Amino acid sequence: MTTAKYVYYFGDGQAEGKAEMKNLLGGKGANLAEMTNLGIPVPPGFTITTEACIHFLNNREAFPEGLEQQVLDNLVLVERSMGKKFGDEGDPLLVSCRSGARASMPGMMDTVLNIGLTEKTLVGMAEKTGNKRFVLDCYRRLIHMYGDVVMGVDGEHFEEILTKLKERAGVEVDNELNEDQLQELCTRYKACVKQQANQPFPDDPHEQLWGAVRAVFSSWNVPRAVTYRRLNRLPDDWGTAVNVQTMVFGNMGDDCATGVAFTRDPATGEKVFFGEFLVNAQGEDVVAGIRTPQPINISQKRDDSLRSLEEEMPDVYKELEQTYLQLENHYKEMQDLEFTIQNKKLYLLQTRTGKRTGFAAVRIAVDMVDEGLIDQREALLRMDPEQLVQFLAPVFEASAKKEAVDGGKMLARGLNAGPGAACGQVAFTAERAVEMAENENKKVILVRHETSPEDIAGMSAAEGILTAKGGMTSHAAVVARGMGKSCVAGCGALNIDYGASQFTVGDVVVKEGDFLSIDGTTGEVLLGEVPTRPSEVIQVLAEKSMALEDSPVCQRFIKLMNWADDVRRMKVRTNADTPHDSEVARAFGAQGIGLTRTEHMFFGEDRIKAMREMILADNTPDREKALEKLLPIQREDFVGILRAMHDLPVTIRLLDPPLHEFLPHELKAQEEIANELGVPAEKIAHRVHQLSESNPMLGHRGCRLGITYPEIYLMQVRAIMEAACYLVKEEKIDVFPEIMIPLIGTAAEFNVIRDQAEEVVQQVFAETGVESPYLIGTMIEIPRAALTADEVAEKAQFFSFGTNDLTQMAFGYSRDDAGVFLPEYVEKKVLPDDPFQTLDVAGVGQLVEMGVVKGRATRPDLKVGICGEHGGDPRSVYFCHKVGLDYVSCSPYRVPVARLAAAIATLND
Ligand code: ADP
Ligand code: MG
Ligand code: MG
Repeated sequence: MTTAKYVYYFGDGQAEGKAEMKNLLGGKGANLAEMTNLGIPVPPGFTITTEACIHFLNNREAFPEGLEQQVLDNLVLVERSMGKKFGDEGDPLLVSCRSGARASMPGMMDTVLNIGLTEKTLVGMAEKTGNKRFVLDCYRRLIHMYGDVVMGVDGEHFEEILTKLKERAGVEVDNELNEDQLQELCTRYKACVKQQANQPFPDDPHEQLWGAVRAVFSSWNVPRAVTYRRLNRLPDDWGTAVNVQTMVFGNMGDDCATGVAFTRDPATGEKVFFGEFLVNAQGEDVVAGIRTPQPINISQKRDDSLRSLEEEMPDVYKELEQTYLQLENHYKEMQDLEFTIQNKKLYLLQTRTGKRTGFAAVRIAVDMVDEGLIDQREALLRMDPEQLVQFLAPVFEASAKKEAVDGGKMLARGLNAGPGAACGQVAFTAERAVEMAENENKKVILVRHETSPEDIAGMSAAEGILTAKGGMTSHAAVVARGMGKSCVAGCGALNIDYGASQFTVGDVVVKEGDFLSIDGTTGEVLLGEVPTRPSEVIQVLAEKSMALEDSPVCQRFIKLMNWADDVRRMKVRTNADTPHDSEVARAFGAQGIGLTRTEHMFFGEDRIKAMREMILADNTPDREKALEKLLPIQREDFVGILRAMHDLPVTIRLLDPPLHEFLPHELKAQEEIANELGVPAEKIAHRVHQLSESNPMLGHRGCRLGITYPEIYLMQVRAIMEAACYLVKEEKIDVFPEIMIPLIGTAAEFNVIRDQAEEVVQQVFAETGVESPYLIGTMIEIPRAALTADEVAEKAQFFSFGTNDLTQMAFGYSRDDAGVFLPEYVEKKVLPDDPFQTLDVAGVGQLVEMGVVKGRATRPDLKVGICGEHGGDPRSVYFCHKVGLDYVSCSPYRVPVARLAAAIATLND
């Protein structure tokens, strides 16, 4: 029996893998192979597959059969290519052992560099290179990383030893330590490992290698990686590949460097080569924010304090430029690169699709279409609809900001690492950020020297992130952009004292809980609370306070949205209860209203009184009298909305909540109302008592009110149709009201109410002498209605799935109470998602699909849509497309998201 292939070689211009093999080789491994095949200089190595990892994790950490031999065979190939031997005492080959899953999980899993250095090999290597300082620098990094990753020694121990030693040596940064000091550092590190791990640091190269491979496999399940997968909805059963790769050294001297770069600006999407590097440094130094990195080229310099790579090593820079262009043209996508320069020779160590803000995503997609790199279809498919919300995210209120600045509140400036303005109270640890946000209901700005993967829960809980160190490609910046959070990074003016829970800038002291405002679009940090104002897109489209030609951002946004509109099959409507919301939604591209809730209209000051009179009435004539007062008010409401949505359909839902919601429950308020209405307080208390229900969600509400108090619904139908006829007659506007009867469970409920409503409609037509188109349909939100949709559709002209209630009733979860246990359900994977956020396709989805199929069997032209919160959730939108809904309806600000999601759904069909 032949064993499976677990190891894939890359080197010398030829690789066994390729970019399409991400599932097996992980993203990093697949792209190392692809770059090798493209002839780009990549240090040789091999990739151990994700399958081997899964085997390892599922079989009590046993390697699959054949793996060990395959690794040794491939190691020989690397040795041949490099002309060095692993563990050779004269001239040792060193390797790195790098994690890399299918999807990039930046910094979440582990990597160990400089494997193969031992007490013996380091002597030979020092002689061979003539640079003992450098070799010791590699060795101390190995002990630190290996001790931490493989042997479980908390990295802080090493940090502490390093900090003390630097203090004693009187140096600021690591690379100022001399040979003797590094020697001492290594000795101390090893003693620390021995003490903390109860085992000596391994002095055998092979032991180091296998220890690292095991640790990298296991790092798939470290808590921060698990959290990252949960936040990013990545499956737990992928596993990580391991890349064993020849070390190249950016820390060998001043003609060496290491850096990261993006082929376009990841914040704005502008077509500029963008990156940072450090001279005489290794691996993660750039990302970790240990020293402030230098800009990669002249165009990125903010001042003359730091020299760029373009100036420092012009030839290497040119080569890097050619390489990035080659890679971008090859992948036809913005790339995020890692490179290392060893004695002026360039090596590429990683390329992947670069993470970017929503602004950058749109700009890159639109530009790449203009450049002829991709077509519109591809541009749309690359978008994450969710990211469009950034275009609607707030910025600081200009006048308030000016006032703050004039008032001396401008505190500092950092890098504009994640766009959007945010304001909140300062927290200095991720744990405090989570506590303050979740338990104390505060808005939080997380302030750190730099963030690390351990901090992601805190970053996720915060409104914005502010760091003192680190550049545009630091952990904080990359993760914040991915989360769509505002982030200001590398704000060097901050003097953070974690111990005292405060930071200072000059004389100003900011403590935990103090308010801070940051603008991740400009990099500004301000003291106090600066109010925010709407984004450019909102100013142009909704407020019309800015001209389109002044906003390239908005122009690109519209361009992309138009492409989406050209391809999508489903329509997108909005949920809106006021003319203003309707207009805003229309500006964002809504093609009608999918849900107008009429109950909100009863709460206004002029109407709640009449509403209460109506509810307190104990006979029909009294009730009708109160309703007569409400009629003109409702009619005005509908005139406003129908006018705002002229030419487009407007679905109006008749009264839905139980009546007790309109009466006060406290005695004092009841007395006030009694006075106002001129009735005894006891009467109100009595009525409240009468109306109280033990389970209002399943009580006397929706069409059940329409059956027992027909006059309420009939007043509403009259108001709608009078408004429609008025607009047709007086304003010559085309209107398309759709009257929606909520919460029906049987066809008979619908039919009774519909017949009465129909009568009123005809009366209004007769009275006004004009007619307007109209439909009478229903909401499908009770499972029984979906199950009997064929009967319901006999008279109902449209269905709108009310997926909030439908989810509630299908699961038997009260939406208002489920918050107590649902988060834990998701965490423990009892449920894949919160079903109130993302439609439960497996269960609730079946009810939707059945409703569509059965309904259309009776009435082929039945109009079907969805109007729950799910209408603005991309994954739910994909499902709605699949089951053939005519439209989705969502809140105004989600309309662009839904338009794009509907387009992507069509393209994927
Ligand atoms: P991550 O996924 O956290 O970026 P990587 O495996 O990419 O982890 O490695 C961490 C850092 O070490 C990166 O900066 C990378 O470029 C560097 N590195 C990894 N392998 C090598 C190598 N063989 N030679 C030089 N630098 C390396
Ligand atoms: Mg990397
Ligand atoms: Mg409902």
